[in-house]
Amino acid sequence: MDTFFFTKLKYKLYYFMFLLSERKKEQKETNRVAERFLTYNNYTVFSKLKGKKVKKVLILLPHCIQNYSCPFKITSDIENCKKCGQCVIGDFLNIKSQYPVEVKIATGGTLARKHIKDTKPDLVMAVACKRDLISGIYDAFPVKIIGVFNEIPGEPCVNTTVSINKIYEYLQKIF
Ligand code: SF4
Repeated sequence: MDTFFFTKLKYKLYYFMFLLSERKKEQKETNRVAERFLTYNNYTVFSKLKGKKVKKVLILLPHCIQNYSCPFKITSDIENCKKCGQCVIGDFLNIKSQYPVEVKIATGGTLARKHIKDTKPDLVMAVACKRDLISGIYDAFPVKIIGVFNEIPGEPCVNTTVSINKIYEYLQKIF
């Protein structure tokens, strides 16, 4: 069977299983299907990248990763961040100075698609909660997206965060 269609079929199956398994779950609850889908997706994307030179990566972040009380408007430009250490946006500014990456805040699927269209990256790295990330990866297929779940220490959609070590680990694999 053609690899493209086999992969597409697998994405469809995973997504269907995810929707079924997610029905009675809270946003904060882990979902094993989502984790397995993400592992499969990231493995598939990294396999496709083998031997290829990646020149530009677009990192998409959810708005809830910014500290809720921060007065600086980073949705239009993350350079407005003052690196106060209250959230990980400052870490992404450091990453931006170390790697050929664009970092954008995507407040929804439409804006995410616009950032991809404007930036024309070789690869997207998306940070989001399980529902947004899984549906985003599924909808965007075959666009290559490396996904990273955000962490939700309190209530969903407020003051979320992400493992910066994981972001560096992936960037070192890419470049
Ligand atoms: S690190 Fe940047 S975005 Fe986060 S709270 Fe501080 S100034 Fe605001």
